Amino acid sequence: MRCAEAQKTMQNQNRGKTVAAREDLNLWTIVARQFDKAAATLDVPKGLLEQIKACNAVYYVQFPVKIGERYEIFQAWRAEHSQHRKPTKGGIRYSDFVTQDEVMALAALMTYKCAIVDVPFGGSKGGICFNPKNYTREQVERITRRYAAELVRKNFLGPGVNVPAPDLGTGEQEMAWIADTYDQLTPGQVDSLACVTGKPVTQGGIRGRKEATGRGVQYGIREAFKHKEDLKKFGLAGGLEGKRVAIQGFGNVGYHVARFLSEDDGCRIIAIGDVNGGVTNPDGLNIAALAEHRAKTGGLVGFSGGAELKGPRDVLEVECDILVPAALENQIALDNVDRVKTRMIAEAANGPTTLAADEKLNQRGVMVIPDIYLNAGGVTVSYFEWTKNLSHIRYGRMEKRLDEMHREKLVATIEQVTKMKVPDRLRRELIQGAEEVDLVNSGLEGTMQNAYREIRETLLADPRLGDLRTAAFAVAIKKVARSYAELGVFP
Ligand code: NAD
Repeated sequence: MRCAEAQKTMQNQNRGKTVAAREDLNLWTIVARQFDKAAATLDVPKGLLEQIKACNAVYYVQFPVKIGERYEIFQAWRAEHSQHRKPTKGGIRYSDFVTQDEVMALAALMTYKCAIVDVPFGGSKGGICFNPKNYTREQVERITRRYAAELVRKNFLGPGVNVPAPDLGTGEQEMAWIADTYDQLTPGQVDSLACVTGKPVTQGGIRGRKEATGRGVQYGIREAFKHKEDLKKFGLAGGLEGKRVAIQGFGNVGYHVARFLSEDDGCRIIAIGDVNGGVTNPDGLNIAALAEHRAKTGGLVGFSGGAELKGPRDVLEVECDILVPAALENQIALDNVDRVKTRMIAEAANGPTTLAADEKLNQRGVMVIPDIYLNAGGVTVSYFEWTKNLSHIRYGRMEKRLDEMHREKLVATIEQVTKMKVPDRLRRELIQGAEEVDLVNSGLEGTMQNAYREIRETLLADPRLGDLRTAAFAVAIKKVARSYAELGVFP
């Protein structure tokens, strides 16, 4: 009941009843229609398409947890959309707005996302319907551990079965509790740590995972900016330097996108919004100062480095070159799409644009880099973490010193041949072997580059696809279909 009431309140607050009633905001329906659009262009048997589209399994559970002096009932889900590759993989979301349809849709997006970036997992997603901000850390821990225990009981958690990760409202701490609960309930399993990713580095996590989704978004946008002839069609020119960026969401994903695009690419972050409003400054926001303000006050409101944005969706209407929705689904919808003033939408969140809004954006010539590609950095680095946990050794540990010795020899040879000394700073840079985080980021960058090129080439090869999202779905469907066919499920 609590979930249904919360959803009604959000719709009324965010949109106004009449407009919301005009379009379907059910994410499961939206994803299914996006799938159908791409599927119509493919030579894949109908039965197989139906199998790929369906959600294979959903576990719904409700459980009691003692909160203060009384027991509260929590509703939770874990969906496995496709097991064509195992384990299945996907985040866990804590929010008042979690529903079964949302979890199934997000699991489906995970299947397609993994296929697009060639990560060998099926898609999954989970969620508990509650707002963690209304509970103490001890209470959130109890709720998390109970949820994990329920998943173990039904075989919805395990290194070879189903491997969760962080999503909206969850982070490293929750993942560490899940890993510990799993270990307690299944003692003696040597691969136990691989039951969940996004853990703290000291608990079997991998360097670069926390930042990975934001990093992937940065790499994806950079890749798009390499294709100048494509950008021209959308009225974009030049490089990323100086581009005005507005971001909805200043959580794990939004914060890192803001940091990386401003620090590494010279973008101007002119507006950031979150659940309580936001802040805008045409000269560019100081991201470090804003993060400090949020750490002190819990939000963006009252930040002295910019003007206030009142509502949670106001940031989407700030005129900019690149708009990055990095909060939640259905944010760009029929009721605000005509006021969105940007040339590019980089979908860091899952499902931030409704179907009708997407069509309007395409007609208006706004470039949309779709979620199923752009936010795949998280699952890509989760894959690296999972393989690290299974191999029980940190990336780079075996080869780093050997690599450095080879480099030292190379520099010495250059000095000998040229009879010149390599300057100290350059020498240090040349000699240093790769750390774990360097390997992670280089693997992620290569993955995001290759995936973008594959989507782009697919679109160029078949103009019926029309846009990057439909092309990305086509790439994903073809790969999943091939996998099912090879498994012999659909000979
Ligand atoms: P988070 O909980 O760390 O941050 C969420 C942010 O969104 C916060 O700033 C919050 O204030 C804001 N927000 C919440 N409700 C809002 C509303 N109604 N209006 C405006 N802003 C609102 O979550 P996150 O991990 O950064 O995830 C953000 C999005 O990215 C989600 O759609 C998630 O599914 C997607 N995503 C996350 C990851 C990951 O690795 N964390 C990976 C892939 C995709």
